Amino acid sequence: MEDKDSEQARRVPTAWRRPAWPTRLRRPTLPRRSALFRRPTLLRRPVRPRRHTILALGVFGAAFAAAVLAGLAWGRPHVMWHFRTSDNRLTLGLAAGHGPFAGWLLSRSSLAASGHHGRQVLLSLHPGSISRVTPNVISVWATASAPITVHVPPAPAITRRTITRASVAVHFSLPVTIDSAACRPSPPSAAVATVRFPRGIRACAGNVEVSAASGETARLPVTVPALIPDPVTFFGPPDGRAVYITIDDGWLPSKPVLRLMRARHVPVTAFLISSAAAEHLGYWRSFQAAGGLIEDHTVSHPDLSKLSLAAATEQWAGAARALHSWFGTAPTLCRPPYGGVTRKVLDTAHLAGLLKVVMWSAEMARGRLSTYDHRPLRAGEIVILHWVPGLYHNLSRLLHIAAARGLHPEPLPTR
Ligand SMILES: [Zn+2]
Repeated sequence: MEDKDSEQARRVPTAWRRPAWPTRLRRPTLPRRSALFRRPTLLRRPVRPRRHTILALGVFGAAFAAAVLAGLAWGRPHVMWHFRTSDNRLTLGLAAGHGPFAGWLLSRSSLAASGHHGRQVLLSLHPGSISRVTPNVISVWATASAPITVHVPPAPAITRRTITRASVAVHFSLPVTIDSAACRPSPPSAAVATVRFPRGIRACAGNVEVSAASGETARLPVTVPALIPDPVTFFGPPDGRAVYITIDDGWLPSKPVLRLMRARHVPVTAFLISSAAAEHLGYWRSFQAAGGLIEDHTVSHPDLSKLSLAAATEQWAGAARALHSWFGTAPTLCRPPYGGVTRKVLDTAHLAGLLKVVMWSAEMARGRLSTYDHRPLRAGEIVILHWVPGLYHNLSRLLHIAAARGLHPEPLPTR
């Protein structure tokens, strides 16, 4: 080395000769890369794993997957149901399962049954049946069905109605308790199969709400017809060519009339105002003894259509009580003052216990007979007169007309 350098130095001019570097300043040779620039170990090409590591990882993964699947299965929501018998409503709902996934699965599940869908399903079932419902739980995990069988008790129903004179009896298919009702039935203290609705002077229609011991309820229509007032009588039976003589009021009793009745056995029906009869009780007892009949013409002869229902009823009932107490016979017939026949008059007479409202078809007054159709008197007609001056003359004249036509006065039937 020294030789070569020397030789080169010799060939090159001196001025150009490059001074030799001090040995210690020479660039050191770098046989290896510095540790500072080495590739990190992790980024190095991985070392091929060993077989037991792969096996461990596999076992761990399988166990994890199995745990997840088990958790999903355990946490699946299920169906809860409740049946309300009062309205036959079946409520289906979802309930959370168990485990860590229960809440998450419940939030992502729904229910479907009989065309309804949601977190909660309401179904109305038919009473008296066995209902089978199969709701489906639609879950992220799986769809499952859960059949449910519900026994629905029968609802109360009306099987029969019995209408009597006093009430309407409604028969139910099973014992019921009345929750509310129109037409004022007498409320039973216990469950009954027959409920009675009293009949009044007006018809009643409404609903009755009943409940059975099973909890079943029903709202059913009820109709209660009004008391049927007795028909108004304008004619009596025509049998035997009978005619009927009636004399109203009673303020002026007539002794000649009484003598005529006795002499010719004339049957007369007196419709008496009780307050007028009270003034001549002896006369009316003689009248009764002579074959006369005494019937109801109210207490004081008011226009009943202008009174309240209670006051009008009392007009009939008060007179009937008085006449009964004086003459020993309760009147069954009545005649409204002024001939005013209205629905109220009929109803009140009925409520007072009277059987018939008797009107007339002919009137004898001031010596003249007038019939409802202006024709001659015929069999079955009821003739009205009044206890007024001239009664004797009118009664005599009437008897003459009847006899001329072959008609026979008869007592007015009291029933
Ligand atoms: Zn009168």
